[in-house]
Amino acid sequence: MENKNLLEVENLRVYFPVHRGTLIKKKVGEVKAVDDVSFKILKGETLGLVGESGSGKTTAGQAILQIEPPTAGKIIFEGKDITGLEKNERRKLRREMQMIFQDPFSSLNPRMKIGNIIEEPLIAHKLTNNRKENKERVEELLQMVGLMPSMAERFPHEFSGGQRQRIGIARALAVNPKLIICDEPVSALDVSIQAQVINLIEEIQEKLNLTYLFIAHDLAVVRHISDRIAVMYLGKLVEVASRIDLYRNPLHPYTKALLSAVPIPDPRLEATREHIVLKGEIPSPMFPPSGCRFHTRCPEAMPECSSRIPQLKEVDSHHFVSCHLFKD
Ligand code: SF4
Repeated sequence: MENKNLLEVENLRVYFPVHRGTLIKKKVGEVKAVDDVSFKILKGETLGLVGESGSGKTTAGQAILQIEPPTAGKIIFEGKDITGLEKNERRKLRREMQMIFQDPFSSLNPRMKIGNIIEEPLIAHKLTNNRKENKERVEELLQMVGLMPSMAERFPHEFSGGQRQRIGIARALAVNPKLIICDEPVSALDVSIQAQVINLIEEIQEKLNLTYLFIAHDLAVVRHISDRIAVMYLGKLVEVASRIDLYRNPLHPYTKALLSAVPIPDPRLEATREHIVLKGEIPSPMFPPSGCRFHTRCPEAMPECSSRIPQLKEVDSHHFVSCHLFKD
C-alpha cells in the first residue's frame, strides 16, 4: 500500500427527488441516500464500507463511478476532481474504475458466450488490435480468475454462482483498472464459495496493485480483506477505523451491534458474549430521525441525541466516530 490517496470523497451528497401526482408531478420530498460523507482510499488499500440495506453504501459506490450524479460534494481521483465530467471524459474514466456486482448472473448477457462478454470492454476501449489479441487476452483473464481458457466458448447458464462471479471479475479486470468497487460481491454466493472468491479478489489485488472499495452488509465478510473499515447508517458515516481497531475496540453503538451479530468460531466465547439486538428496522431515508439518525434504535441514546447531529470526529489515532458519547 502506498501512502498516497487514490480516491478522495469530500462531503458527498446524493439526494433523490420524490414526486407525487399523475398528470402534474410535484416534488414532495427527497431521499437523502448519501448525506455529507467524506473518506479517502490510499493506493493499494482496501476500504470496507459496511451498513444495512438502505444505508446508502451502494449509492455512494455508484456516485464514485458517476452512475448516480452527486447532488453535492467532490470526488477526487488521482488528484483530479472528477465530479460532473462530460460524457466523453466519463467514458475514459471507466477504464480506471470498475465495479464487481452482487449478482453476477444479471450482469452477464445470457445470450452471449463468456469470451464475448469479457472481450466487450477490450473492443469498446480499443485495447487490442485484432481478434487474435482479443482471444489471447480473454484466455489470460480467464486463467487469472481460476477458469479454463476453453470456457470462453460457453454461456453464462453453464456456470455455477462462484464461477459467474469469477467471470464478472475477469470482465472488470479486462480494462486494467486502478480502482474496483466490489458491491457485495459474495452475498449471493453459498458460504462455502464466499471465502474462495474473497481469496481470489485478494490475490488479484496483490498481483495487480489494485485499490478496492469493498461494500458489504455485515462485518464478517469485510474482516479479512479490509485495511480500514467505514460503517454507514442511514446515509451517514458513523465510524471509520483500521480493521484491527474496529474489531478490537468498536466505539459507535451501531458498530457494536453489527459486530455482536458476527459469530465467533470459539463456541465457549460465543455462548458468553453479549448479543445486541437492535429494535425495529432502519427508518426511511426520506424521513430520517432528527439529531443522531441512529437515536430511534440506539441502546445508549440520551436526551440530546434526538436534537443534536453528531459530527464525525477523531477520538483516537485514525479512529473516527460520530456519537455524543464522545465529547469534542
Ligand atoms: Fe446513540 Fe446518541 Fe451516540 Fe447516536 S449520538 S449513537 S443515539 S449515543
